[in-house]
Amino acid sequence: MELLEERIRRDGVVKAGGVLKVDAFLNHQMDIELFSQMAEEWKRLFAGKPINKILTIEASGIGIAAVVAHHFGVPVVFAKKTQSINLDGTMYSTRIQSFTHNRIYDVIVSTRFLGPDDHVLIIDDFLANGCALRGLLEICESAGATVEGIGIAIEKGFQPGGDELREAGYDLQSLAIVEAMDPATGAIEFRAGAQGKT
Ligand code: 5GP
Repeated sequence: MELLEERIRRDGVVKAGGVLKVDAFLNHQMDIELFSQMAEEWKRLFAGKPINKILTIEASGIGIAAVVAHHFGVPVVFAKKTQSINLDGTMYSTRIQSFTHNRIYDVIVSTRFLGPDDHVLIIDDFLANGCALRGLLEICESAGATVEGIGIAIEKGFQPGGDELREAGYDLQSLAIVEAMDPATGAIEFRAGAQGKT
């Protein structure tokens, strides 16, 4: 998606260790008009799928997922990070390794808000090694929900998560795929043909 790539080039900051900071429009200040156009792009890419729920993970996925849910006219559920898992059967839970914070945390979704009738579109801001997504996929599997697709704003193509999930057969649509980035010069290279011309 050219609009998103241009914005990453303009306002993204390449950090050491393969981290891209996009605080100016996505992870701290949020550009809702941009989110709206991203949502329209996902609507086009997932047209015809019987999506009745958006699933994301706190915190940074929530802003985008809320706008996407509005465009699809369906509810959004976010997986919560927690210290203490309550094992009374009212929660689906999984463990996720955090790329940015380098630690493991537990994630939960209430059984009230996800179940076998749900056809889910998973939305997140970044895809790196794919740990966050695999956690959300595991939660969908526990719930018996159908995963109709995965929409990612920025995939880092030099980390393995995206290609592994595509190989596993998921309909994964990343709106910008960063192929390489250089913290010394700030240069960012995108994978050609990553979704749409808008
Ligand atoms: P994964 O689980 O795929 O390794 O990492 C995905 C999660 O880590 C995303 O939900 C995102 O919050 C965070 N993340 C991974 N890489 C980056 C990055 O380069 N920049 C930012 N801002 N967040 C990242």
